[in-house]
Amino acid sequence: MSASTEPRTHSDFPADFRGTILRPGDDEYDTARALYQGRAADEGPALIARCSDEDDVAAVLRYASAHNVPVAVRGGGHGSDGYAMPGGALVVDLSGMRSVTVDPQTRVVRAQPGVKLGEMDAAAQEHGLAVPAGTVSSTGVAGLTLGGGIGYLMRRYGATVDNLLACDMITVDGRKVRADATENPELFWALRGGGGNFGVVTSLEYRAHPVGPEVVAGKLIFPIDQAAEVLGKLAVHGATAPRELGLLVAIADAPPLPMLPEDVHGKPVLILVVVYTGEPDTADEVVRPLAELGRPLADLVGRTTWVQANSMLDAVAPYGMRMNLRGGYLPALTDDAVDVLLEHVATLPANPGDIYSINISFMGGAISEDVDEDATAFSRAGAAWLWEAICKWDAPESDASYDQWATTLTEAMQPHALTNGYANLSDDLGEEWRRGVHGSEAKHQRLRAVKAAFDPQNLLRFNKNIAPATSD
Ligand SMILES: Cc1cc2nc3c(=O)[nH]c(=O)nc-3n(C[C@H](O)[C@H](O)[C@H](O)COP(=O)(O)OP(=O)(O)OC[C@H]3O[C@@H](n4cnc5c(N)ncnc54)[C@H](O)[C@@H]3O)c2cc1C
Repeated sequence: MSASTEPRTHSDFPADFRGTILRPGDDEYDTARALYQGRAADEGPALIARCSDEDDVAAVLRYASAHNVPVAVRGGGHGSDGYAMPGGALVVDLSGMRSVTVDPQTRVVRAQPGVKLGEMDAAAQEHGLAVPAGTVSSTGVAGLTLGGGIGYLMRRYGATVDNLLACDMITVDGRKVRADATENPELFWALRGGGGNFGVVTSLEYRAHPVGPEVVAGKLIFPIDQAAEVLGKLAVHGATAPRELGLLVAIADAPPLPMLPEDVHGKPVLILVVVYTGEPDTADEVVRPLAELGRPLADLVGRTTWVQANSMLDAVAPYGMRMNLRGGYLPALTDDAVDVLLEHVATLPANPGDIYSINISFMGGAISEDVDEDATAFSRAGAAWLWEAICKWDAPESDASYDQWATTLTEAMQPHALTNGYANLSDDLGEEWRRGVHGSEAKHQRLRAVKAAFDPQNLLRFNKNIAPATSD
């Protein structure tokens, strides 16, 4: 993604900015512009303004507004579109704003926008608490929260946005505003799912919940030829599962583990990633029926800590590879939808060293039943499962074949999927997709109105962009 404006050197960058300014050729520039999405490294931004506090953020945004310069925002750097570091752009880099505080009395966790999920988890667990968020510890809290936030605790406590109490934000003209249920409530609604469209968020406050420290978690690994049978039974079994069960199903290549037969190493298998946060002594009655959905090659589920459980996917999420990401909501896990996913495993371009995972996340419970669809910009109406395909490779020559594969899969899944979705777990698929992803035309227009109120010039356009409402 490239900045659409004339190249600027920003030689007039404001003197009241006290953070670090990085331009092409500076020592730390290449390290600073590296994102999870390796394709973003193809072109570098014009200037990275690494902010030390909210006054720095305000200084950059006042400068951008005065010169009508669009601004990109880097939180944790995990966005799949690479919008955090567009070629030629001015970037507000929040990666240095890393403080996280926990009040054990009120159970309120306050995080700055450079904080990563693993850091928030570690801080909250010192008090036996956790904020419902995502499953890979290097993901940033800011981008994840502003898009919605799903993970192993969503069935028990809801999406991350359902546990967001307040945000502090700098507007594009440099004002500090707070958004919560009573102050700027319309902005607060939009920030809970509308992404980085409205301003730069400098602080996020969450309601945390008692979790762990001991949980029961791990992987149940089945041969791929049992996948259709296991998923068919899981679709039925899911209806009776307790909210304390977090479950992600992955179709991926088997790791070379000694407990797996050698002939499946590097070949597709079905993995049930299980995280049970209820009373550990009751886990067996929840986990055993999952193992009995088929005949597992390995049962790696056992007692562990919440922090370990919530980072077990880190090993398959290396930073900096080229990638694409597609996904959507399923109203039901039907045999036909499962067939489409399984058929596409066989057509993956996969070269040695490439990584793929086709995931199916189990929704239901608090995220689906406890919050009204219109309460947040994040949409979840009708979603029982979420499918997601993530491919990673190093060779630029593989871009076209992986993108073609992902497009074909997305089209084949369309008849089985809902038109709303989770914006963070798909690449930006264009205007029509962005119109539908929040769930209804009314919600889309409501987001456009908030955008017009807070960013009428669309300076924050390097994102899943919501066009400002026009007065006509
Ligand atoms: C390996 C991997 C695992 C993932 N797992 C999960 C998961 O389990 N659950 C889940 O819900 N999602 C998951 N995601 C998706 C994740 O939520 C999004 O990629 C999210 O955008 C990451 O946020 P970030 O701050 O790290 O990324 P960034 O790339 O820094 O930010 C993404 C976008 O968010 C906006 N933004 C970021 N910070 C701010 C801010 N402070 N103010 C205003 N706008 C801002 C900007 O528009 C920016 O372009 C995963 C992604 C990856 C790559």
